[in-house]
Amino acid sequence: MAYFKAHSFGGGVYMLYEPLGVGSHLIIGNKKALLIDTGFGFGDIAAAVREITEKPVIVANSHIHPDHSMGNNQFERVFVGAGDMYKLEGGILEDEYKKMLGFSTKYLPPLGLLIKHYKKIQKSALYKTEYSALTTGDKIELGGRTVEILEMPGHTKGSVVFLDRTAKTVFAGDAVNRGMFLYLDSSVKLARYADRLDKLAGLAGFDILRTSHSKQGAPFAFVGYYADFLRRVDLSKCKSSPMPLSDGKVLRYSEKSRDYGTVSVFFNRGQEGK
Ligand SMILES: [Zn+2]
Repeated sequence: MAYFKAHSFGGGVYMLYEPLGVGSHLIIGNKKALLIDTGFGFGDIAAAVREITEKPVIVANSHIHPDHSMGNNQFERVFVGAGDMYKLEGGILEDEYKKMLGFSTKYLPPLGLLIKHYKKIQKSALYKTEYSALTTGDKIELGGRTVEILEMPGHTKGSVVFLDRTAKTVFAGDAVNRGMFLYLDSSVKLARYADRLDKLAGLAGFDILRTSHSKQGAPFAFVGYYADFLRRVDLSKCKSSPMPLSDGKVLRYSEKSRDYGTVSVFFNRGQEGK
């Protein structure tokens, strides 16, 4: 059985979904394709992409977390948000991979098999990947289709979202979703992050929001909703939440929304307020 499950959303947009619950997006233009994220690296994502398109592929990460970037070394060059470039130095990325693999093995025992597979792929990896930085306003030309970059610090310092006007879609990685993890490696204040979301929400011409851990996506209007939700965070109603890869002091604030179900944010004390 194929490791990646390819979902077509129409209009040259695909998601390659992995069994552990993360998807990488593929956008096809007339001349080139853009692969957003490379997954856990357990599967041969380069081959999965070639099954969909033979066009040259530009590869970018929505942010540097293991479940979005461990497959990078299957590619010669990868673009990442400027604010996450620091993770490529001094073994930070390797440490994160180890932590993530340690965490996953503890809580997801069947993962042992995948890790063996991962080690094999790492050994046979073709490239020592070269990295280039993405900043707001950068444009990725795919031929008849341009994808624009907007930096969205919050989930990580260098998270970026990809604006595809052709599909009226914003590809957000983990930078906007119904249960944002803001406690991991960013100390962005909730208010600053909400302002940033407003900037995104104010852009005209988008209908769809696609995120990495859901196949469904969400209406683009969710971006503005979530910015307002963050402004309602009430410390007295937060619960402390044992979260993966945390010190156990993470706070969770949740509300039930009519349109979007339960909406949450996970953050560290001190990120609230201005
Ligand atoms: Zn992430």
